[in-house]
Amino acid sequence: MTKWIPAKIKEIKYWKKNLLNLVLKASINKFIAGQFSKILLKNSKKKIKIQRAYSFVNPPSTNRIEFYITLIKKGKMSEELKILNKNTKIFITKNSFGFFTLNEIPSYQNLWMCSTGTAIGPYFSILQEKKDTERFSKIILIHSVRYFSDLKYLNVIKKLKKIYQKKLIVLITISREKKHGFFSERIPNLLLNKKIEKYTNLEMNYKNSHVMLCGNPNMVKDMFHILQKKKKMTKNLRKKPGNITRENYW
Ligand SMILES: Cc1cc2nc3c(=O)[nH]c(=O)nc-3n(C[C@H](O)[C@H](O)[C@H](O)COP(=O)(O)OP(=O)(O)OC[C@H]3O[C@@H](n4cnc5c(N)ncnc54)[C@H](O)[C@@H]3O)c2cc1C
Repeated sequence: MTKWIPAKIKEIKYWKKNLLNLVLKASINKFIAGQFSKILLKNSKKKIKIQRAYSFVNPPSTNRIEFYITLIKKGKMSEELKILNKNTKIFITKNSFGFFTLNEIPSYQNLWMCSTGTAIGPYFSILQEKKDTERFSKIILIHSVRYFSDLKYLNVIKKLKKIYQKKLIVLITISREKKHGFFSERIPNLLLNKKIEKYTNLEMNYKNSHVMLCGNPNMVKDMFHILQKKKKMTKNLRKKPGNITRENYW
């Protein structure tokens, strides 16, 4: 059974109207970089109002609980988060969940990390933790946002570039607006028209690559299909290691 514990809201930072950064304080058990937790809100009668999953942005080695959250129009939790304040009764799971973690991923030459929107969070956690990343020669962080104003956490990207130097390649695409210096297509299109391989100067194939996909289920589904069909890649299973690891946000 899921064990819920009370959490204190330390910080609510709005990047823009529908994009926030939530920092909690709670005595949770140690998690693995890439995992997610669940948060729960109760109503005044102490009945469960709503619960949803959120991935940690911070690495486990920091004593922090930080989530990067997008608010959805008329979304049940989003409507509650909109009126969140430091006195809101909020709960978090004592344990964390998920297998979107490097210890589940076999060794390949290159590790590709694809994300849409706030789904860059688990990669920030993994990359900042650094544990187990030395197995890969190159790590390619591919991040898609809809609008330029959705591009946040640039300080973390900058910090990661400094840590990893040439080992880390960052590719950013803004899918709904054209901005100088950025790609302007969805990630699956960038793979199909080979712009990803051209930009990184790396060939992505089933012998040398593992691909992590996180966020919008349309991106995950389309990428999975292309990787299977065009690159002969296979789903990564514990019993049968392969090239693709996925996490859908809805
Ligand atoms: C493993 C896991 C980890 C997650 N981690 C994060 C995280 O770190 N940050 C985060 O913002 N969300 C994350 N999510 C999504 C989150 O759990 C909620 O689904 C999201 O906050 C919307 O909840 P809601 O109740 O407001 O919307 P709901 O009422 O549940 O959903 C309404 C509709 O909105 C759409 N929708 C849901 N999420 C999104 C989205 N992110 N972007 C666009 N449309 C969406 C769907 O079509 C959905 O049917 C994660 C989900 C999973 C499964």
